[in-house]
Amino acid sequence: MQEIKQPSKKPLIFYYIVTLLIVMVLNMTLFPTVLQQRVQDVTYDQFMSMTYDKNVGQVEIEGDEITFTDKDNQNIYRTTKTDDPDLTQRLYDSGAVFQEIDTQPGMLTSLLVGWVLPLLPFLLIGYFLNRRMKKAMGGADGMMFGMGGGGSGAKMYVPSSTGIRFADVAGEDEAKELLGEIVDFLHDPDKYRAIGATLPKGALLVGPPGTGKTLLAKAVAGEANVPFFSIAGSEFVEMFVGRGAAKVRDLFKQANEKAPCIIFIDEIDTIGKKRDGQFSGGNDEREQTLNQLLTEMDGFDGSKGVVVLAATNRPDSLDPALLRPGRFDRRIPVELPDLQGRIDILKVHAKKIRLAEDVDFEPIAKTAAGASGAELANIVNEAALRAVRAGRQYATQEDLQESVEVVIAGYQKKSRVLSDQEKRIVAYHEVGHALVAALQSHSAPVQKITIIPRTSGALGYTLQVDDGDHFLMSKEELLNKIATYTGGRAAEELVFHSVTTGASNDIEQATKLARAMISQYGMSDEFGFVALQTVTNQYLGGDASLACSPETQALMDKKVTELVEEQHRKALTILKEHEGKLHQLAGYLYQHETITGKEFMDILERQEPPEAEA
Ligand code: ADP
Ligand code: MG
Ligand code: ZN
Repeated sequence: MQEIKQPSKKPLIFYYIVTLLIVMVLNMTLFPTVLQQRVQDVTYDQFMSMTYDKNVGQVEIEGDEITFTDKDNQNIYRTTKTDDPDLTQRLYDSGAVFQEIDTQPGMLTSLLVGWVLPLLPFLLIGYFLNRRMKKAMGGADGMMFGMGGGGSGAKMYVPSSTGIRFADVAGEDEAKELLGEIVDFLHDPDKYRAIGATLPKGALLVGPPGTGKTLLAKAVAGEANVPFFSIAGSEFVEMFVGRGAAKVRDLFKQANEKAPCIIFIDEIDTIGKKRDGQFSGGNDEREQTLNQLLTEMDGFDGSKGVVVLAATNRPDSLDPALLRPGRFDRRIPVELPDLQGRIDILKVHAKKIRLAEDVDFEPIAKTAAGASGAELANIVNEAALRAVRAGRQYATQEDLQESVEVVIAGYQKKSRVLSDQEKRIVAYHEVGHALVAALQSHSAPVQKITIIPRTSGALGYTLQVDDGDHFLMSKEELLNKIATYTGGRAAEELVFHSVTTGASNDIEQATKLARAMISQYGMSDEFGFVALQTVTNQYLGGDASLACSPETQALMDKKVTELVEEQHRKALTILKEHEGKLHQLAGYLYQHETITGKEFMDILERQEPPEAEA
């Protein structure tokens, strides 16, 4: 991979020139003798005695000044002539030679001694300091003292040099489809311009670690064939306040010159964390960097073809301002692969190693439930290593099976790979939600259920799509929603006669909703049209604070409990009535790990169901 780095060296040269000037001045004032040390001044008497001793080599007389050397031309002397008419004769007698004497040391020697030698320590110190600064500042082009503009340290990828295509990313069809549009735009922006459409300026890839976010971004670059600026969020974190912001500015400047192009900010949560008013006090630098990023994203012209991609596995910690329309308004989920996805990923990576012909990926993908793309890639590699260890030419089914255990066991504590029983419970829990939702007339139809662990830490989830926009919800709809939240727990109770910790989020949501119904929406008989709660800090999180007496509060808590309990009972009744469907659907989900809304409705509406599988 060919990467071009273009650090600007100008400021550094500037410092070298300053140093040079300082050395010149020092040279003239402090060490003038450096140049003249070979010439010694002597008295005329000494000169005379040297001529008598026949100890003079060459002589040069220029006006009153006599310059001469000793016999062996070792040293140069200088003296001032007094009135001495016999001088010439005496010098002849002493055997001296009249000639011009070069009092200057040789050009090269003079240069070396006078300039380079004193400069050398400066150059060396400068060089090492520069290198250490670079290391300490994470590749900040060696601009010492933080002056001037400077490079962003963003790597510039030469077009198509990532060499990764969408074909290298298995599964993740949803993400690929959404990103495909961006690629198309970068290929043929005129098509979009003609109709007046601008593409989202930014897209945020969200998903757990190792699911291929970075890989997808590289694939976009590979497909689009445009320059690709890749930088990690942590590279913006700087020692000095203001430097991170300067880097952001510079990155966008570079990108604007190279448009159409892609900017990719990996692990953006490092700079994009929420700016909380409450506990701040600290990180001015990070906040400035984030503000700069927001400004830049607002500033550039979307039709020009600069697309900002970013990746994070902690979307909940991102500043809401980043997710506002006009910035990262397109959110692309990159979730853990389901069974089919895992098979595909195994196949992609298996192409890189030599495999036995009879390898079947399905059982391997099945045992590796909950594994991420990175873990699956690792499994394939482990299998190859195992084959080498055994002295075989290719990896076998057994190698793969074994390495699943090695890799998954290694990961088991860290990541959320579900055991068989857990998977079964989660399947019932999720179908519980979905069934309750679907069977209540006002609830929205289910779009997709999966029991692959999600980014949020929830073990499964039920995706509901509201039919049409609605901002106003009736009391009945809200009650149904609460019933849906309790549906998961209800299914567990019904089938396993025990409860698990898996419902904590449901409980929280249901309680919140019930409380809001009573205190904010005025939907209870007791309190009616009275606001018991005010929302503070509406744009940052929206915390609610109570505005009522402790007695009312106690009464309200009781009311909330009653309300949730009532809906819980309703959910239980619904599930009991449709227990057959519950088993069927949960069985299907357990086996396939994902069920679409259509499959769900098909099974639900099927009249004469065959025996449930699994
Ligand atoms: P993330 O950035 O989401 O943490 P990466 O993109 O760095 O994950 O993925 C790490 C590695 O895992 C990739 O280099 C690739 O080998 C493998 N990988 C992850 N997801 C996939 C996938 N969907 N298809 C193929 N390989 C994948
Ligand atoms: Mg990554
Ligand atoms: Zn739940």
